[in-house]
Amino acid sequence: MPSRKLSGKPEELAAFIDKFDIFLFDCDGVLWQGKALLPRTVETLAHLRNLGKHLLFVTNNSTKSRATYQKTLQDFGIPCDVNEIFCSAYSSAIYISRVLQLPRDKKVYVIGESGIEEELAAEGITYIGDDGGDITPEDYDSFGPDEDVGVVLCGLDRAISYRKLARAYQYLRNPETVFLATNIDSTFPTHGKLFPGAGAISAPLICMTGRTPVSLGKPSQAMMDAIEGVLKFDKKRACMVGDRLDTDIRFGIEGGLGGTLAVLTGVSTEEEILEEGAAAVPDVYLDRLCDILG
Ligand code: PLP
Ligand code: CA
Repeated sequence: MPSRKLSGKPEELAAFIDKFDIFLFDCDGVLWQGKALLPRTVETLAHLRNLGKHLLFVTNNSTKSRATYQKTLQDFGIPCDVNEIFCSAYSSAIYISRVLQLPRDKKVYVIGESGIEEELAAEGITYIGDDGGDITPEDYDSFGPDEDVGVVLCGLDRAISYRKLARAYQYLRNPETVFLATNIDSTFPTHGKLFPGAGAISAPLICMTGRTPVSLGKPSQAMMDAIEGVLKFDKKRACMVGDRLDTDIRFGIEGGLGGTLAVLTGVSTEEEILEEGAAAVPDVYLDRLCDILG
């Protein structure tokens, strides 16, 4: 069925909201754009909470921990509990500890930023990283497989280097070392433009090893498994709200959620939603999230 734009009629908006007990929100492109809060985001979320709806904030951004995201939300004037936030650094940590059940004596080699380290530490997972300087003659001798490294986890790393990749490659040559990516977004929007995303950091490792990482970001169902690993909810009474068809909307559809709502304040356009062969077709869409207020 093609997607349809929700009319602003109060009874239609109320009927749509009534279908759900829980709303999963993508963040950038839905609630805010970069550093700018989108119009009436605070009122819209407060309205849903007043109706008794549960809210979750589900973001592919691996650079920040849940605690940092909570602060970001609160600084925007959006009250939230840390348990309502699922960032891909957190879903990665949950996956490693609760789905993979990585033995305590094994380590994770991380390519990424502080958000990943904070979430791994909070789950009691031992990790190592690399400071990323130039590769030295000693490195060529010392780099090699390490039985203690059970997982290589790759997220966005804005200080990526040959040395970090070379070390990951040595670990991944062992087929028993699990290859994970926080998310595989090719790009992400910032400062009004697109910049290389976490997928561009894991791509060289895919090229070197011929292996495909399990992604813990949307649209991967491993992210849904991680959410369900810590939170029980009726999926049929859940709605995914996102700006990107190939990540958010696909995540909601493939995850078996009861509904999907796209907004036009982020990456995907109305033309993309309506074209034949769209990456994923949302049930409904709105120009902006706040249009749900009528
Ligand atoms: N990755 C990074 C590094 C980002 O900064 C962002 C957005 O801020 C994203 C991914 C996409 O995040 P979201 O899933 O909230 O749109
Ligand atoms: Ca987004």
